[in-house]
Amino acid sequence: MDGNEFDADGSEFDAVVVGGGVAGLTAGTYLARHELDALVVDDGESILRRNAHLENVPGFPAGVNARLFLDLLSSQADRAGCERRDAAVERVRTTDDGFAVETGDGATVRARYVVAATKNETSYLDGVEGVDLVDRGKTYVDADERGRTGVEGLYAAGRLAGKPHQTAVAAGHGAEVAVTLLEDDDRPFYHDWVAPEGYFTGRGRDVPPGCEELGDEERRRRERESLAVMRDHFDAPHPEDPEQHPSVADEE
Ligand SMILES: Cc1cc2nc3c(=O)[nH]c(=O)nc-3n(C[C@H](O)[C@H](O)[C@H](O)COP(=O)(O)OP(=O)(O)OC[C@H]3O[C@@H](n4cnc5c(N)ncnc54)[C@H](O)[C@@H]3O)c2cc1C
Repeated sequence: MDGNEFDADGSEFDAVVVGGGVAGLTAGTYLARHELDALVVDDGESILRRNAHLENVPGFPAGVNARLFLDLLSSQADRAGCERRDAAVERVRTTDDGFAVETGDGATVRARYVVAATKNETSYLDGVEGVDLVDRGKTYVDADERGRTGVEGLYAAGRLAGKPHQTAVAAGHGAEVAVTLLEDDDRPFYHDWVAPEGYFTGRGRDVPPGCEELGDEERRRRERESLAVMRDHFDAPHPEDPEQHPSVADEE
């Protein structure tokens, strides 16, 4: 997924998101937009890479290439200020003030919060006391509707939390879990809303935390930028083909 390169070992974040597929990248974007230091660690195998053409995600009337959709989610996380690393998380440990997240390349990252968004992979949670797993042929993490697990500060998002196997649902749940974390952290937070100038202040209200008012000039500038960024992404067919199911690929 082409994560940012930085020396991760010993670094500290407010939140580490394990798994940078649909739910994890969306959670990372929401956390970073609310000024948490957020890191997404991913080993590059979103199940969505297997899709042939993604036709039921809101906002794409003729569908969209699933690899391109994942690129868009990564790019959005980057623009929000979320760090990303390409690595496999091998172990999560609880510490006095949160969690230590150990990756296969020997780095340890500390965080107050961990969001697990790894679809059905849970082995890295084996050492965390209090995590309940659910076995329904595949393994899921037992979490409440908002993604809270039995361990304070540890959340589960997307398919891993037992949500339906759909991209829009996984993205929505990633967002919901991130907002839940913000609420649990007692951050002053109303909504992540961008409103036209005067929407709040024109009624004598302060702009609520998490919200922003945009004047016309800035609104138009952002629209021009968004058109340019999207033109760039949609300029040519995506170079990567869908990944085949491993059992089919093995026979080829
Ligand atoms: C063939 C196929 C077609 C599909 N088509 C559609 C469709 O048309 N429409 C639709 O809505 N949905 C579709 N889906 C379903 C969709 O892909 C999933 O529901 C969605 O990707 C789930 O999101 P997620 O974030 O929970 O998991 P994922 O997107 O799979 O993300 C999990 C991430 O965690 C990472 N990870 C796992 N373990 C670790 C670890 N230890 N350390 C670091 N990273 C780790 C993985 O590499 C992966 O990137 C399809 C799925 C398949 C298989």
